[in-house]
Amino acid sequence: SVRVRFAPSPTGSLHIGGARTALFNYLFARSRGGKFVLRLEDTDFERHQEEAEANILENLRWLGLEWDEGPDCGGPYGPYRQSERLELYRQEARRLLEAGLAYPCYCTPEELAAERERMRREGKVPRYSGRCRNLTPEERAELEAKGIKPALRLRVPAEGQIVVNDLLRGEVVFDCSALDDFIIMKSSGVPTYNFACVVDDAHMKISHVIRAEEHLSNTPKQLLVYQALGYEPPAFAHVPMILAPDRSKLSKRHGATGVEEFRANGFVPEALLNYLALLGWSPGDEQEIFSKEELIARFSLEAVSKHAAVYDIQKLTWFNSQYLNLLPLERLYELALPFFREAGLGEEVEKAERDYVLRVLAAVRSRARTLVELVDMSSYFFRDDFAYDPKGVDKFFRRPGVAELLREGREILARLPSFDEASVEAAYRRLIEEKGIKGGDLIHPTRLALTGRTVGPGLFEIMALLGKERCLARLERAAR
Ligand code: GLU
Repeated sequence: SVRVRFAPSPTGSLHIGGARTALFNYLFARSRGGKFVLRLEDTDFERHQEEAEANILENLRWLGLEWDEGPDCGGPYGPYRQSERLELYRQEARRLLEAGLAYPCYCTPEELAAERERMRREGKVPRYSGRCRNLTPEERAELEAKGIKPALRLRVPAEGQIVVNDLLRGEVVFDCSALDDFIIMKSSGVPTYNFACVVDDAHMKISHVIRAEEHLSNTPKQLLVYQALGYEPPAFAHVPMILAPDRSKLSKRHGATGVEEFRANGFVPEALLNYLALLGWSPGDEQEIFSKEELIARFSLEAVSKHAAVYDIQKLTWFNSQYLNLLPLERLYELALPFFREAGLGEEVEKAERDYVLRVLAAVRSRARTLVELVDMSSYFFRDDFAYDPKGVDKFFRRPGVAELLREGREILARLPSFDEASVEAAYRRLIEEKGIKGGDLIHPTRLALTGRTVGPGLFEIMALLGKERCLARLERAAR
């Protein structure tokens, strides 16, 4: 059965590269009726960040990538934090040691550094010389007696080839001569990534390892570990990098890269998920908008490109605008509420009739690209004390006779028995005709009076939404 895992190291918050890897694992698992496992690779105690684990779980959840087994919910192969599995790695390492497949290495960091330096000077690629490979039991005993705690190295064959059968790239061949006897357990008793990862993937019965391309060079080492431990390796798929628009490595200087930043900037998870799926995966036709369910139905590893994908904030923003218009209004409300709170309108919005808020969102959403914009464009529906756009004031309020015109508009609105969109429009059109002015002469200053802005939804839609009382009060304020 299909079992995949996402195995982040909690050394920082979840970024879009990690989220995309998680998404491909998730889609693969769901499309094959398999399990999606979350495992935290938290044995790098120096680079460990306290908040990173919570951040990763929270943002995966926000994206809608629920896992079946993980550190928070457990599962049959737990625990799911590597820091809680140290005993298992030690047991497995002991097995290799006893079988002679691994050996203790007593070299100090200084000795190893000097060795690397010497090789570099000789124009060689630095690698471990194998100095401790063939120590006699007596030599070992002597070093142990000095109190030196050894690291454990895997015995790597000097010759031969290791073939990684990558589901996207086909056979990738590595020469053993390019590898050295790498460390599997540090002298501190903590496993290295290449060892812990294999022990866990084997014990957690992972069938497919889908991970970032940057790990491809680790895979031959991991295959050697599988061989030494006597476990059947899983299938591998190394998914392509995500590059910045200038095709450099995506980094902070390219703007937001963390999932939480996109979230804070008003991107909706549905849009980010859809966009990330298309960074590397292609459905084979022109369709771009996919719900999560459609992605699950259509996804296949074969359709993932082996070429780097280029990240494009404009395209992501386009997806976000699309989703602001596609999402059910109730869902949009739920997503927008935290942004209303942030804008200081939480109380007003929660006090208002739900139906009113939904109608406001429906009226403004076609112009918004993010939830931040959506909330900004909705704000005058919830507060009366807005400021007027100064450019609008120059253009529409400073004309002679405007105050008088707004007062007249106010009067005919006051007399209307019904305040629906058609009635206010008819009344306003009558006044425009009577006065022999252009529509804009009345409509623009009225819009500025009612909203403080020069652009927005149709004026009569706004008026009907605001209701008679608010419209009259705002016109009076502007005509003063
Ligand atoms: N902890 C590794 C990382 O975050 C996992 C790599 C893997 O999936 O094997 O890059």
